[in-house]
Amino acid sequence: MIRTRFAPSPTGFMHIGNLRTALYEYLIAKSAGGQFILRIEDTDQNRLVKDAEKIIFDTLKISGLKYDEGPDIGGEFGPYIQSQRKFSYLKYALQLIDEGKAYYCFCDKERLDSLHKKNLPYDRHCRYLSQEQIQTNLDAKIPYVIRQIIPEGKTTFKDEVYGQITVDNSQLDDQILIKSDDLPTYNFANVIDDHLMQITHVVRGCEYLSSTPKYNLLYEAFGWQIPVYVHLPLILDENGEKLSKRKSSASFQDLIQTGFLPQAIINYIALLGWSPENNREFFTLKELENEFKIKGLSKSPAIFDLNKLRWMNGEYIKNMDEGKFYELVLPYLKNSIQKSDLDYKQLAKMSQSRINFVHEAPDLFDFIDKLPNYDTNLFIHKKMKTNLENSLEVLKIILPKLHELLIWTEDSIKELLMKIVNEMNLKTGQIFWPLRTALSGKESTPCGATEIAQMLGKSETIKRVNIAIEKLTEGK
Ligand code: GLU
Repeated sequence: MIRTRFAPSPTGFMHIGNLRTALYEYLIAKSAGGQFILRIEDTDQNRLVKDAEKIIFDTLKISGLKYDEGPDIGGEFGPYIQSQRKFSYLKYALQLIDEGKAYYCFCDKERLDSLHKKNLPYDRHCRYLSQEQIQTNLDAKIPYVIRQIIPEGKTTFKDEVYGQITVDNSQLDDQILIKSDDLPTYNFANVIDDHLMQITHVVRGCEYLSSTPKYNLLYEAFGWQIPVYVHLPLILDENGEKLSKRKSSASFQDLIQTGFLPQAIINYIALLGWSPENNREFFTLKELENEFKIKGLSKSPAIFDLNKLRWMNGEYIKNMDEGKFYELVLPYLKNSIQKSDLDYKQLAKMSQSRINFVHEAPDLFDFIDKLPNYDTNLFIHKKMKTNLENSLEVLKIILPKLHELLIWTEDSIKELLMKIVNEMNLKTGQIFWPLRTALSGKESTPCGATEIAQMLGKSETIKRVNIAIEKLTEGK
């Protein structure tokens, strides 16, 4: 049974790179009928942020990445918050000390700082303390950390994405396993937890690749089975720089606030480092579960292209169930357009294929409340065969007929206009274009002249036709 885990640190926001890691972990487990676990890694108490856990829970919920075990739902291998698992780590570190695979280090800050200043790794000073000296220091309650003994030799491991990697152990430092506050370092805790939680596949960002030999030495020290490693490529921004949290587009929350749909985000980030066997671009989460294969992962950095995501969001809106879109867009239409006797269903229908974000819908109809101050050149349209003169002429003919029209519906307005087209032997554009321009003052609108006239109502329509006539007369 494949078991993967998402192990975020509660930093207060969900970086897109972390969400992609969660997604791939979810997919690796689910595509094989396995389990996906959430574990919160809060051992760095200096970095704790209020409500950060809730952000993690909410993000996974909204994205549909349902975990089988986690802090808020429990599970067989809990607790799932590292600060609550304190009991286990020290025990394992002491076991390594007993077996001569780890040691107490009493070096003070000054000593370590001076090594650090010279850019030197820890010089293993305490590795060689006598048993007596260690006992004296412990009795005197001198603060200590516990360090891993890195043996001599080479460490080799296989990563599913990056292939075979070998390092000389002389490159690795005797890393700290337990800090002076008795809490484990991330480097120690992740190994213990992954083992105790029976994680089979460790999936994480490639920045952990260089620490992996040290983890493997720990697995070996305990005699535990080493998991399958899947390290993921970097995500870069459009300028080729690491996608940073200082840039607004880097977190899931920011994207949601900008108006991106969770499904579009998930679909898009699935493709940041993974390619399906065909060139397909659109996937539901369920479809990803069926299609995902580790061998489709790439080690080249992925580029996060916000414009592509915008486009994809638009496609998701276009293909959304009409009723669902109406539900989403209605509050925006109601709040932004003052005129209230509108057929919102019709407005929703007109906008669904024309926007990338739901909140953009009202902008399409901004002419309803207020006619913009437009240029009369808008009346000129080659294909429609309209110019300033014939537009003025046509509007002058329409005006009294609009006055006379008693029933004000889209159909009746259309009938009236078509009658004029026939009587005057015009092209339809020669009447519909000037009228639509007069009513909207815009070069493009999501609907035609008759729909706009119906939306505006009779008196506003007549008012705007009069304004157009005035403008065109003045310009003569
Ligand atoms: N807590 C680590 C992080 O947030 C997790 C790394 C891992 O998955 O092992 O980056």
